[in-house]
Amino acid sequence: MSLQQRHLTVLGATGTIGVNTLDVVARHPERFKVVALTAHCQVEKLFKQCLQFEPEYAVMLDPACAEELRLKLRQAGRGTQVLSGVTGLEEVSVLPQVDTVMAAIVGAAGLKPALAAARAGKRVLLANKETLVMSGALFMDAVRSHGAELLPIDSEHNAIFQSLPRNFSEDLAQNGVTRILLTASGGPFRNTPLHELENVTPQQACAHPNWVMGKKISVDSSTMMNKGLEVIEAHWLFNASAEQIEVVIHPQSVVHSMVEYADGSVLAQLGNPDMRTPIAYALGFPERIAAGVAPLDLFKIGRLDFEKPDFRRFPCLSLAFQALRHGGTAPAVLNAANEVAVAAFLEEKIPYRKIPQLIEEVLGEIPVCRAETVEDVLAADDAARRAAQRRLEAA
Ligand code: NAD
Ligand code: MG
Repeated sequence: MSLQQRHLTVLGATGTIGVNTLDVVARHPERFKVVALTAHCQVEKLFKQCLQFEPEYAVMLDPACAEELRLKLRQAGRGTQVLSGVTGLEEVSVLPQVDTVMAAIVGAAGLKPALAAARAGKRVLLANKETLVMSGALFMDAVRSHGAELLPIDSEHNAIFQSLPRNFSEDLAQNGVTRILLTASGGPFRNTPLHELENVTPQQACAHPNWVMGKKISVDSSTMMNKGLEVIEAHWLFNASAEQIEVVIHPQSVVHSMVEYADGSVLAQLGNPDMRTPIAYALGFPERIAAGVAPLDLFKIGRLDFEKPDFRRFPCLSLAFQALRHGGTAPAVLNAANEVAVAAFLEEKIPYRKIPQLIEEVLGEIPVCRAETVEDVLAADDAARRAAQRRLEAA
């Protein structure tokens, strides 16, 4: 069998998704060649990855860290070229020798390089949900008009993608789809008495029952803002209205999401909660490749439970639905206010319950505009961040 080797850029290589991606890649050296790896400023970790994968390029957002990495690689006798800054991230996303870009930077910082990859017509493996939340219309437009291929990495969206017809034509009704059932674990506070949520610590919020993830997304899972962002993500990926998306709490995180069809069929994708499954699915697409994930032991799991989400317990979920319905720059404002609020909570500057309050205040303050250009989106992002910061300082 002759294999077409895929040439990869991994944006956010040192993060949870990046590390899991490289774990899958390392299992298939004949299939994948790593061309570029990027990180914010984790020099030692990126250095080790460079030794193992010998990429042509490494990018550190921070120039001082880039210099440090350059020195270390030179001393180790490696030829990897080190770039820095957002321009470096964009540069390695559009290299002609790269056909596949894993977009796994966390937060709004992931937008520009992911958009650059789409505009360069790459196969984009999209983990950075913020890109779609902030600039869904723009991004999907770039994918379509530049012939890029978009494969979702978020486990729920990957499950939905797997459960839709292969030739899905962006029209749910035409494909006989009635609803998308987006599953959510409910996070660590699904059953915590409401009054106890007052005193939640960052450590408690980050202790997700099923998934090991970066800190920001772990807090988002605990507030269910993560699910809210995923509702917006699903809206753009699958052209689904807010009414066509139902959030279903499923504490075991085994059913990764479902698609309901007009004939009453519900198709689901199941698996252990291990991001290497959706990553391997997207890396190998349309083939199935080994991911190193343990087989699902249904007898050990025993039962699968489903519940309706309690919107009073999880106000962030309501705020996200609201932002989706408002459209325009509202989701970008929601996302930015959430990033500021979560960072402040992680630094113990605000209590847990202040997260949704701050987001709601900022959503009320910043007028919704049209999100037609990257500049529109980034202006809304910036205004929301400044408004959130001002409110934090005033408090
Ligand atoms: P993480 O915090 O573990 O890693 C983030 C990566 O991005 C690191 O390599 C970091 O160096 C880099 N980075 C951070 N800030 C940057 C900046 N300003 N500029 C350039 N690079 C920067 O995050 P993660 O958990 O791997 O999540 C990555 C993305 O994938 C997020 O958008 C998240 O929502 C999404 N996602 C993650 C999971 C998961 O299980 N971890 C699941 C679904 C979706
Ligand atoms: Mg998810």
